[in-house]
Amino acid sequence: MLGPVILAASRSDRMRRLISAAPVTRQVVDRFIPGETVDEILPIIQELTGDGLELTMDVVGEDITTPEQATAARDAYLELIDRLKPLELGTRAEMSVKLSMFGQALPGGHELALANVRPVVEAAAGIGTTVTLDAEDHTTLDSMFAIHEELRKDVPGTGCVIQAYLFRTEEDARRLAASGSRVRLVKGAYKEPAEVAYQQKHEIDKAYVRILRTLMEGEGYPMIGSHDPRLISIAQELAHRAGRKLDEYEFQMLYGIRGDEHLRLAAEGHRMRVYTAYGTDWYGYFMRRLAEKPANLSFFLRSMISHD
Ligand SMILES: Cc1cc2nc3c(=O)[nH]c(=O)nc-3n(C[C@H](O)[C@H](O)[C@H](O)COP(=O)(O)OP(=O)(O)OC[C@H]3O[C@@H](n4cnc5c(N)ncnc54)[C@H](O)[C@@H]3O)c2cc1C
Repeated sequence: MLGPVILAASRSDRMRRLISAAPVTRQVVDRFIPGETVDEILPIIQELTGDGLELTMDVVGEDITTPEQATAARDAYLELIDRLKPLELGTRAEMSVKLSMFGQALPGGHELALANVRPVVEAAAGIGTTVTLDAEDHTTLDSMFAIHEELRKDVPGTGCVIQAYLFRTEEDARRLAASGSRVRLVKGAYKEPAEVAYQQKHEIDKAYVRILRTLMEGEGYPMIGSHDPRLISIAQELAHRAGRKLDEYEFQMLYGIRGDEHLRLAAEGHRMRVYTAYGTDWYGYFMRRLAEKPANLSFFLRSMISHD
């Protein structure tokens, strides 16, 4: 119950100022967002890939208000790709992008986001890797899927994310599975109304399994974005039943959450990709992590109290 309350409160400017300025925040944020600059994140990329993990890199930021910020977002990804080039990691380090950060919510946003994301997708392809379009709130998804389809005409490996909590997703999954796409399935992290999304955990989990079956039986490449132990073992079973080999699907988890499980799955021979966020505009990403597990919030509040 607390999760939606945290997500709703996180939209307030006052809350943003309070959380961002709290003296203890940075220490807690580091657990989920382990760097602010490319220089800080490169050693972490090397450490994680050295441990046999693969990565998807997210330069944090969303809710931008000017086209200049969208251009800056594009440039931040281009800089990262440029710095990754000599490491020759190929698909072991891919990118995740939020189209809102590329201008999707601004006037003319659909075209602007496409124009900003295209060079990132092309630059990533140039170093032998791919980009996945994250899924944001439900009002942005028609635009996201249209951009995904457009980008795939030139770079078919471009991936996208679908959210099990939305009623529409079973149909989206059928379309994407038939088109042979790379698709990350997640439960969904935004506050969505009952008109468009399941509200109960058991309903979301059941939808996740139905959608995962569609992806596993389809033509595409399923990416299982979850830390839920039950869903991870169901995914292994569904992959086995669909006759998929270990390199025909992958698991994905967030940096800072169930790190032992990342290593366990990789040691078992699974492709295990860690979603690793970095940058200065971490507020929205951080608040979603607090909302997913209210224990994180009490840890955060306790740290603030003990600091005072
Ligand atoms: C790789 C990846 C990419 C994602 N991309 C998107 C996206 O594009 N759009 C979107 O809407 N959502 C995205 N999400 C978030 C997702 O929608 C869920 O909110 C999140 O993964 C929590 O759901 P869960 O499947 O882990 O299951 P849950 O039932 O929430 O969690 C299962 C267990 O995992 C652990 N856990 C989960 N979350 C946390 C946390 N924050 N802190 C500490 N422990 C935790 C707990 O032990 C918990 O019991 C992504 C998630 C992953 C893993």
